[in-house]
Amino acid sequence: MSRFSVVEMVEKQLRRRGIYDQRVLNAMLLIPREDFAGPENRKDAYADAPLPIGHGQTITQPYMTALMAQCLALQGTEKVLDVGTGSGYHAAVLGRLARRVISIERIPELAELASGNLERAGLAANITVVCGDGSLGYPPESPYDAISVAAASPCVPPELVAQLKDPGTLVIPVGSRQDQDLEVLRKERGKVTMRVVSACRFVPLVGREGWLERG
Ligand code: SAM
Repeated sequence: MSRFSVVEMVEKQLRRRGIYDQRVLNAMLLIPREDFAGPENRKDAYADAPLPIGHGQTITQPYMTALMAQCLALQGTEKVLDVGTGSGYHAAVLGRLARRVISIERIPELAELASGNLERAGLAANITVVCGDGSLGYPPESPYDAISVAAASPCVPPELVAQLKDPGTLVIPVGSRQDQDLEVLRKERGKVTMRVVSACRFVPLVGREGWLERG
């Protein structure tokens, strides 16, 4: 049994903090986060925090998932690339907001965990989980209307910008290993503009266009 309800999460952590996109709020109301948190974290499934999912990784804090999804302003027709599948929760949220989601995870065990979570929750129909280095995007399915990166990068990987449609939107945490800015890049009429929407703290994007693996 979870210590907080999904309604409390949506009202207190999301709506009251400025998440206004009703499609995002509805998606997060309907998706059972406890199915992605793992049995040991079930009681904290709707808490205002990231949760450990093994392999040194986490499910992103609900507010950050909502903010990132809101920044993409999805209408339901888009093909989206989700980099950093983790538990599959963020992919599930994007799957309710877009037509199709390709989600890429570098750790094979987590890609498998996420696929199982999505299947069990009955949310896998429009989501494909692949294993690989998402700092290089996923060329076989490109271009994408939107790209969401849930791991911190030292810079915006050029491959991700190249795989974005025009018009298209990319949301990504950029900065040091410890602290980042959540950047939203918009490609429109051949130009790319950037705005910072929040400070944030994500686990590193480990890959050719991200950070080197430590130790
Ligand atoms: N979105 C996830 C969720 O809802 O559970 C949480 C993402 S977690 C904060 C970041 C994930 O990015 C980790 O699972 C990590 O293994 C993955 N990751 C890190 N570098 C990656 C890369 N180059 N390509 C794909 N996934 C990567």
